[in-house]
Amino acid sequence: MKVSKTVTQRLEDPRLFRQYAYVDGRWTHGDAGREEAVTDPATGEVLGHIPWLEADQIHSAVDAADRAYVQWRALRVDERAERLLAWYDLIQAHREDLAILMSLEQGKPLPDARGEVEYGASFIKWFAEQAKRTFGETIPSHIPNAALGTLKEPIGIAALITPWNFPLAMITRKAGAAMAAGCPVIVKPAGETPFSALALAELAERASIPAGVFNVVLGEAAEVSSILCKEERVKALSFTGSTRVGRLLLEQCAGTVKRVSLELGGNAPFIVGPDMDPREAALSAVSAKFQTAGQDCLAANRILVHESIHDAFVEHFAERMAALTVGNGLHSEVDLGPLIHAQAVEKASSIVDDAISQGATLVAGDQSAAPGPNFFMPVLLTGVTREMQIWREENFAPVAGITAYRDDDEAIAMANDTEYGLAAYVYTHDIRRIWKLLRALEFGMVSVNSVKMTGPPVPFGGVKQSGLGREGGVSGIDEYLETKYYCLGALGSVSGS
Ligand code: NAP
Repeated sequence: MKVSKTVTQRLEDPRLFRQYAYVDGRWTHGDAGREEAVTDPATGEVLGHIPWLEADQIHSAVDAADRAYVQWRALRVDERAERLLAWYDLIQAHREDLAILMSLEQGKPLPDARGEVEYGASFIKWFAEQAKRTFGETIPSHIPNAALGTLKEPIGIAALITPWNFPLAMITRKAGAAMAAGCPVIVKPAGETPFSALALAELAERASIPAGVFNVVLGEAAEVSSILCKEERVKALSFTGSTRVGRLLLEQCAGTVKRVSLELGGNAPFIVGPDMDPREAALSAVSAKFQTAGQDCLAANRILVHESIHDAFVEHFAERMAALTVGNGLHSEVDLGPLIHAQAVEKASSIVDDAISQGATLVAGDQSAAPGPNFFMPVLLTGVTREMQIWREENFAPVAGITAYRDDDEAIAMANDTEYGLAAYVYTHDIRRIWKLLRALEFGMVSVNSVKMTGPPVPFGGVKQSGLGREGGVSGIDEYLETKYYCLGALGSVSGS
């Protein structure tokens, strides 16, 4: 086994750094003819290697999950909850190591990585508790001498395919719900960030999660995903990633009529009302834009500011943006880490060039100051219009685009002018404006006067082409449950009824 000293020397518990897939409670290299290097996006340094499993090994993971399902679903719900809480405790106990691993493979600043570990762990705890409340119903009977009701039962094996921007939380938000419901899971993490997933597997093993209940497979994305989507024994697919790949997976799942949950791209509007203090709103907008260097499905992608405060807002935004420090996420005082790879930097540049060529003004953003090839300095553009790429696409980069609007109706029309519908931000203290926008915005989540909106108790998800289903909240566990209706007939009449 090749052990990267860069990684292990930094960890208090070096065994959290695994360079194997995890299937059926075993660490496996498979027959891997092929290995892939995983690099630190900040330095380009190779952190380690992962095996790419062959098709038959992906099928073996399904076999293992199928065997484990019998035992896992049969556990009493409080027993399942205990295992999940043990896993939660271990994640908490190793949060610093998990944050370092994440920062190394993803690039995000260490404080953000610590926040993600907390956030990710909180879903396991919440769903462990919520599993105890997956109640069925008693239905008043319309059939003579019958009792009617519903049972909630686990759906079966769930395949979880996740992106690189939140390498830990996107797994636990799904796996916490699925495993609490009684479903074994097969996780396919993003190729750029497998080590967070594998550290979770190591901790699941230590928490005595039975073999086959939590599996991590690695390999060529299209091949692995296609096997999992077409496998009849896999009953649910939960995917977080781009809308492009989400559409593809939805098609592949049609053949076996799977339950499909999709958390896809966003193109969030950030609407600032005329009554707002421009400075207060600008500080929040900077925070909503530059988290994870803009590589966040909730990032404020189109900032819409009332014309009466536009210029003051731009000034405050530029001032705050200039104070952001770009650098290696492991260094202190860094606000923005690198982008995930060179293609992301190229895309960011092309979005900026496209906007400028169509008349946008570059207020700030000097790329000569970038501290390395994968870094992109924050950019501020004004005069952004609907024809520009930055408006139509999720830019997934630290590029902020501002547009002035005249009135609420124009702001609503602008905000809804997208195929996406994940999240929207509204900044105003006018209650009538708040209510109007809240009702009119075609987004699954609307946050008013708050950048922070997510967490275990809330239903996270989008409308339009931002996805299907919800993660978190009471409805999050329903993605992994079937409702079985029962009719108990010929019971005889009960005297007095
Ligand atoms: P992506 O390219 O769609 O990749 C996501 C996952 O799909 C990865 O595991 C990837 O594997 C796999 N994949 C890639 N190409 C595939 C293919 N042809 N067939 C099957 N699987 C494939 O997305 P990303 O660039 O990692 O993540 C960014 C996207 O995620 C953004 O659009 C963002 O908005 C979205 N996102 C949404 C949410 C939400 O909750 N709505 C949260 C976070 C991110 P490999 O890495 O191995 O290629």
